[in-house]
Amino acid sequence: MDGAVMYAPGDVRVEERPDPEIQDATDAVIRVSAACVCGSDLWPYRGVEDLEWPAPMGHEYAGVVEEVGSEVETIRPGQFVVGSFWATDNTCELCRAGYQSACVNRVPMGMLGAQAELLRIPFADGTLVATPDLPPDELIPSLLSASDVLGTGWFGAVAAQVGPGKTVAVVGDGAVGLHAVLAAKQLGAERIIAMSRHDARQGLAREYGATDIVEERGENGVAKVKELTGGLGAHSVVEAVGTQESMMQAVHSTRPGGHVGFVGVAHDVAIPGMEMFWSLVHLHGGPAPVRRFLPELIDLIWKREIDPGKVFDLELPLHEAAEGYEAMDQRRAIKALLRP
Ligand SMILES: [Zn+2]
Repeated sequence: MDGAVMYAPGDVRVEERPDPEIQDATDAVIRVSAACVCGSDLWPYRGVEDLEWPAPMGHEYAGVVEEVGSEVETIRPGQFVVGSFWATDNTCELCRAGYQSACVNRVPMGMLGAQAELLRIPFADGTLVATPDLPPDELIPSLLSASDVLGTGWFGAVAAQVGPGKTVAVVGDGAVGLHAVLAAKQLGAERIIAMSRHDARQGLAREYGATDIVEERGENGVAKVKELTGGLGAHSVVEAVGTQESMMQAVHSTRPGGHVGFVGVAHDVAIPGMEMFWSLVHLHGGPAPVRRFLPELIDLIWKREIDPGKVFDLELPLHEAAEGYEAMDQRRAIKALLRP
């Protein structure tokens, strides 16, 4: 089969890789209907993060089950399934508490390389959620988004304790940030401030429920959020970038007693202790337990109550994966969908 492999920063190739097979009785193998390039794939692409080169790429996927191991009970060949970017048993104590991304048996799907024609899924029963039926083609992007970016934005909003009557600010206008806006709307936020200086992304943020747009960044962005909230700051702030500037922008934009949900993969972020001390804010975040939200998100997509697939503004055949990375790196595309 064909799959995307990164050889070095800036060097993504689609090449022949071995067909995955059932290795454990709890595995499934799926035929990938759609995969995509993640903002987090850009860290190694830009040379900020080292991988063991050459590295198979991709951890977001939706597709049709080809084969299951002898101990798989709920997932069957022929079903259309979506899974999280962690394969998880969904039975250990951490999974049952809703923190599947910290499952004691978790396997990172990125190691298996979802930007490919076929994909092995460990713990198929715990990892995958089947849709009610085979989806029409136009629903596939939205279902794919639930695999990571939608689930991650949703977790950011939940971690930031978004709820009715609250003012929410979202730092970051990538797919996760835009989905955090969508989640905030669904979770009943009264006012949603999207922080973006990018025209098309501002438009999508508004479509997803943003009531205000702030173009300023850093401390100027903080000042603007304070201005919009009577000097107090937002109740809930989602951080969806992962840099020092975005994290401090999130902390400083939050009112005392408020909550920061941080879901940008933090690179070289250090929160000064005194600033944390005086901020009086709650901090919660990390790799999103997407599996917790998958059934609900798939249901919302299936009923067409949300349309998260709009973040895919570039669709390419798998063998043009390199162009998807380049377009996202240059911010010409919000998110690139790859069709094997
Ligand atoms: Zn577990």
